Amino acid sequence: MTATTIDAAPAAPAAPTDWEGAVDELALLADSDATACVRRAEGLIAAAAEQRAGGAEMRLAYYAAVAHHALGEDRRALERAIRAEHLARERGALVWQSRALARQGVVHHDLGHTEDAVDLLTRAAELRREADDVAGTADVLTILGSVYTSMPHFAPQAAGVLTQARRLWLAAGDPDRASIALANLARTFVETSRRLAADNPRGARASARRALGLALEAVDEADAAGLTRTAVDARLTAAVAHLLAGDAEAADAVLDAAAGMLARFPSAGQQLSLHRIRSGQLLAAGRHADAVAEAGAGMVVCDALRRPAERMELLRVLADAHEALGDAVAALAALRELHALTVRLGDAQAERRAALLGARMEVEQAERQAEAERRRSEALEERNAALAHEAAHDGLTGLANRRTLDAELDRWTAERGTFAVALLDVDHFKRVNDTYSHQVGDAVLVRVAAAVQHALRRDDLAARYGGEEFAVLLDGLSGSRTEDVCDRLRETVAGLVWDDLMPGARLTVSIGVAERQAGEPVAGLLARADAALYRAKADGRDRVRVASAAA
Ligand code: GH3
Ligand code: MG
Ligand code: MG
Repeated sequence: MTATTIDAAPAAPAAPTDWEGAVDELALLADSDATACVRRAEGLIAAAAEQRAGGAEMRLAYYAAVAHHALGEDRRALERAIRAEHLARERGALVWQSRALARQGVVHHDLGHTEDAVDLLTRAAELRREADDVAGTADVLTILGSVYTSMPHFAPQAAGVLTQARRLWLAAGDPDRASIALANLARTFVETSRRLAADNPRGARASARRALGLALEAVDEADAAGLTRTAVDARLTAAVAHLLAGDAEAADAVLDAAAGMLARFPSAGQQLSLHRIRSGQLLAAGRHADAVAEAGAGMVVCDALRRPAERMELLRVLADAHEALGDAVAALAALRELHALTVRLGDAQAERRAALLGARMEVEQAERQAEAERRRSEALEERNAALAHEAAHDGLTGLANRRTLDAELDRWTAERGTFAVALLDVDHFKRVNDTYSHQVGDAVLVRVAAAVQHALRRDDLAARYGGEEFAVLLDGLSGSRTEDVCDRLRETVAGLVWDDLMPGARLTVSIGVAERQAGEPVAGLLARADAALYRAKADGRDRVRVASAAA
């Protein structure tokens, strides 16, 4: 009834036999062509789930999450990453669990859920540490550091995490990444300086100096290593640090150097940062017309990059500069746009948050349903197995029942060459019931059945033939051995001790046995065994009689 909700995968996808190849292919696509990656992932993940190839599904889901994130499909990205995390946790795959968690963290960060992002990334870093993955730990800490940097009051945490990341990068033998961490570290001191500016000017200046020192060190390292992007980042940070320290001239010089590098190695994002810093600097210097021009240039880049946060910052500069220039109309237009953007961002964020919450709940619900389904089908399997056993066995003794005996006799007749059928009948069993009760009689039958079963070889079969009679199929028996085996069976029962059920009593069985003859039908074989049993009884009981050959 509910199966449709969890079985929403496309029908019968072509399943690859080479999962390693499929995973590699998706990993490559995630980096090179996110749209193709997402399209290909659908079928592969469904096939992996169907084939219960959990390790493959885990990695496929992770790369699908990366691609969805690159396409801005946050909800799908989170669904996939959560699934990958779940599968990784099941398998104890620490590194993959860490990856899936970190991916969720990054998505949440992009959505402005900073606390969630910190929580997820912290767990991701711990898992990497547990896995002794030094570079991986450094990687996650670097991301965590940039998340902390974006939080107004967490610059100290950012500094701590990035310091660790730098140390780990150096330990992992990756000085380039260590330099990037250093440039990021410098930025955290810029943030601290900004935050302290109003209430604690001395602290703000100290932080700015610290930021400057680190940024210049990062510039040197990045220049030496030829890391142009990091070198530009570090220069932009150094320029801001100079400005915070009140040295506009030095800031200018560093910004010129950064602009020169950007002319040779263009990067829209860094170009935007340059415009942002310059327009702010020009505004502060009272060069309002230049500030408007610089902010205007930044807006153009912003439009291309769709970066609302930076756009808002530029709009603030524009409004202030226009106002200072006496252009109230232009200032008002900038403020209006700023307001509209604020509202739109808030709405969009609320909408995305709601959608994400829904996604998480859906995933959890699907997992719960799948688990319930699995339990149900396990219970059903157990129940079916129990029913099948019941149908084939005798309820009192647990031996094969008459129906199974008949089927086995047909099978043995068709498949086996020589075998014998022995019929055992308990002697004077009526007396047991009459003397001790029917319940004791039952218990006696159970014990006799167990003794017979225990005495047989693996390929033999014991069944309850009816009442106090048992049938035994004895594999490969002929000649004198048949009588010997049956006599041992008789002795086994005769040797049982009954002190607990019938103190002092002795119980015996009579046995009639017939060896199957070529071409003989089952009914004939049983009739000969029965006749032999009758003779055993007539000859005084507690004995074995072998049937004579059929006429
Ligand atoms: P004989 O030596 O000639 O076989 O004597 P007998 O008393 O064993 O033979 P008879 O066929 O006269 O009696 C069999 C008795 O077994 C009768 C029946 O009540 C009892 N019996 C059959 N099935 C069960 C059972 O499941 N439980 C109990 N307690 N008694 C049973
Ligand atoms: Mg009987
Ligand atoms: Mg009997």
